[in-house]
This record gives sequence, C-alpha cells and structure tokens, in this order.
Amino acid sequence: MPEDEELRPRPGIDYPRDLTEFHQFFRNEEGCKRYLERLRWREGFLCRNCGKTGEPWHGRRDVLLCQHCHAETRLTAGTIFEGTRKPLRVWFLAMWELTTQKYGANALGLQRVLGLKSYTTAWAWLHKLRRAMVRPGRDRLGGSVQVDESYVGGEETGVRGRKTVRKAIVAIAVEVKEDAIGRIRLRHVPDLSATSLQSFVADVVHHGSTVQTDGLSSYEGLASLGFGHKATVLSRSHDPAHVQMPHVHRVASLLKRWLMGTLQGSVSREHLPYYLDEFTFRFNRRTSRARGMLFYRLAEQSLRTGPIHLKQLFKKTGRGRRQKSGGAK
Ligand SMILES: [Zn+2]
Repeated sequence: MPEDEELRPRPGIDYPRDLTEFHQFFRNEEGCKRYLERLRWREGFLCRNCGKTGEPWHGRRDVLLCQHCHAETRLTAGTIFEGTRKPLRVWFLAMWELTTQKYGANALGLQRVLGLKSYTTAWAWLHKLRRAMVRPGRDRLGGSVQVDESYVGGEETGVRGRKTVRKAIVAIAVEVKEDAIGRIRLRHVPDLSATSLQSFVADVVHHGSTVQTDGLSSYEGLASLGFGHKATVLSRSHDPAHVQMPHVHRVASLLKRWLMGTLQGSVSREHLPYYLDEFTFRFNRRTSRARGMLFYRLAEQSLRTGPIHLKQLFKKTGRGRRQKSGGAK
C-alpha cells in the first residue's frame, strides 16, 4: 500500500487547508483537544480499562472519563504532548509552522512566531516533533532506485569540546519513476563499508528492485542480497557523477541547501538522523497540494510517538544553548 493511501483525510474537514481555516479549527484549547481526541480514537473513544467504546465524559484539563467504568484516561498520555505546561494551541501553531513553511522552521524562528520566552523550549519542541516525523514500519522504496552517498555538515560554533559534523556521511536512496524523483530515504552512516551501505539498501529498498550505484566496491554483493544491481563505474566513463545519477545528486544538493539555510549548518552529529527524518518527511510529501495535509500527518504521528524528555534530547549533545554550562563536561 502506498505510504499515504490509508484513510485519506479530507481537506477542510479533517485538517485545515490554510491559516484562516486553522484559526477556525483551533479557535481555543477546547477545539484542539477535540481534534486530538478524534485523531487518537478514530473509531470512537476506547477505554483501556474496560475495553468498551463510546463517547466519554470530559473532565478537567485533558481527562476523559469512561461512561461505563468511570476510569480516567488522559488525552495526551503516552504522546509527545504528555506533561506539557503550554496550551495545545501553541503546539498546534508550532506544527503548523513546521509543516506549512516550504523549508520548515528553526528554533529561533519558531520562538519568535510563537512568542515563547525560552529558546530551549522552541528547540526542544522542534526536536520532539522531528521524532514524530518517521513512521515506524513505513514502506520500502521499489522499482528503480538510485543509491549514493553524500557528505554533509557544518561547524557547530560556540560549543567547545563537542563533536561536530564536519563530514557526516549520508546515504541516499531515491526512487526513480518515469525519470522523475519519487520517494527518498536517507541515513547517516558511520562509514562507506559494505556493512553500512548494504544494510541501508536492504532496510529501505524492496528485494527485487533494481538498485543503481556507482562503482564503489562496498556495493558489490547487492545482487547476492536479492537486488538487481546496476553499477556505473564513473572513472571509466567521461560523465561527471551528476550526469550518471542526477536524481540522487539533486536530493543531496537540496538537503545541503536546507541544512545550510534553514538550520544554518548548525547540526550536531547526534541529532543529524532526526534532521534527515524531517527533510524526508517534507520531501516525500512535496507534491501534496494541501499543506494542511502535512500538519495532519504530523499531528497524527505525534499521538503515536511516546513522550520524549528533555534529558533524552540533551543526551550527549551540547545543543540547547541554555543547558547547564557549569563543569564544562
Ligand atoms: Zn471503561
């Protein structure tokens, strides 16, 4: 089943089409709660305690009460919104901003738009939302797929003694459909070994698909893994790489432009995989006519993504600027 085929949401009914509709949908906190409730329990509220479905009573804050057994369920429990002290409406605006801007948002921009006092909050929200941008068990690419690697990264300034992503390797897989770019998958790989690159291909491309690569020896053996393998040895041809695999190079250059533009090159190694997820999320939905559709998908996946604590986001990284800076370690 194609990625977005199941239960296709209806524009203007299941999600707002533009900012005017956004404000109509989410006039107040109550509107946001009802929206999340409908999104979380599409078949009607299901009580985990007694297993019965039915319209719940609405208690204080985000508590839902089962009409049968009176057990309480919190609307945001087990989602990325769990425990938030900010109104859902502000979260919704953040999701809107992140999904409707062509190039997404950075923390400073988001802080300004939402009027948040803390840069760290904006930064943390973006990271939480990025973690909701990958759908577990999503489809593999199929048909004809180009695979290559690219070096991305920029210096992380102002954080002494931290690892920077000067040269991170990103493996790129691009579906080619009638000579146009279909869906993509990206992965930060530690090296160019056969193990790294072949497991990437095996994870993101359907067996039986045709995989086009350059002549790098690490790709030898894809045929034995069940792929049709077309290796183009660039050194023997007179075409520069971008002519041989234009699609993958197009994606690589868009990715770099985005990392340098929106994110101003400030991407730490630990967080790079999530930035790649964000890029993929937006790229694979670039043809969605309604930008609100991306908002819908993000809201939907935010409910399926468990809570993420600030500590997890700061783990091993120096980002967030207002992290406790004493002790230097
Ligand atoms: Zn119940």
